[in-house]
Amino acid sequence: MHIYLHVPFCVRRCSYCDFSIAVRKRVPVPEYVECVLRELQLMREGRAPQSLETLYLGGGTPSLLPADAIATLVTSLLDAFPSTPSLDVIDVDVVEVTVEANPEDVTSESAGVWRRAGVNRVSLGAQSFDDRVLQWMHRSHDGARIATAVGTLRGAGLDNVSLDLIFALPAELERDWSRDLELALALEPAHLSLYGLTVEPRTPLARWISRGTSAAPDDERYAAEYLRAHERLTAAGYHFYEVSNAARDGLRSRHNSAYWSGHSYTGLGPAAHSYDGRARRWNTPAWDAYCRALAAGSLKSTSTSVVTSTGLPLRIVGL
Ligand code: SF4
Repeated sequence: MHIYLHVPFCVRRCSYCDFSIAVRKRVPVPEYVECVLRELQLMREGRAPQSLETLYLGGGTPSLLPADAIATLVTSLLDAFPSTPSLDVIDVDVVEVTVEANPEDVTSESAGVWRRAGVNRVSLGAQSFDDRVLQWMHRSHDGARIATAVGTLRGAGLDNVSLDLIFALPAELERDWSRDLELALALEPAHLSLYGLTVEPRTPLARWISRGTSAAPDDERYAAEYLRAHERLTAAGYHFYEVSNAARDGLRSRHNSAYWSGHSYTGLGPAAHSYDGRARRWNTPAWDAYCRALAAGSLKSTSTSVVTSTGLPLRIVGL
């Protein structure tokens, strides 16, 4: 089984982001943990025991949760699967347990708690090492914080670190993509995810472009920066196993590979999607509505159909 847990909370919305998030100054931690554990209980009812292959805490910003809340969620999810080995032997090749984190949230205390709870992989939202660019993105960290976070994770025994970077930024930022690639490689991450900037409706970036205060992404820049990254990372020993993802030998993301290979997966948390091999379904995206539905003990479903690339109808179920 592959499980995705969506943690929707962020301190603010990044300029390019249209993800399903809830911007909160105060994260409702006990309410969130209670809702997820209730959904986990509902998920297990009537299902035969399965073995867990990957668990992925994504967002939003999972690292905004206090470390003990992450530990409660991870251990509860691992304990729900009887085949999970004891935590002292849990290994990424047995059960891959990933937490997405922002660099500013990584402390030696939080990293230690994550590791002891069974986390064995961290995906760090680096995006750029240029402070000016990070401010434009509305990120909360500066470039120097990325290396500090990687060092802290390694100090806690979390060596399997992935870095996210965004490329094809508007020309007026004069972002030095080659410099960012070199700084990322100097940290020797296990894995890199490179995302080309796209403009999504109702984001700050879309508004800036419509007002003429920012340029739209440029296709030529997009292609040139992608190809430069492909060449440089390949020369450094990384293998692109998916269009946006490169890893050192044996360090591909098993969780993301499951999506791309058409395996079934289960999503927990607001907006989380699931796929059982025949139909896709997703939880209601709004945090408050998701919480209310679980408190009432009723997750109503609606369905529709789309035609897949095979020409066969695919049933879609929304919760
Ligand atoms: S931290 Fe991630 S999920 Fe949150 S607003 Fe920024 S890009 Fe979106």
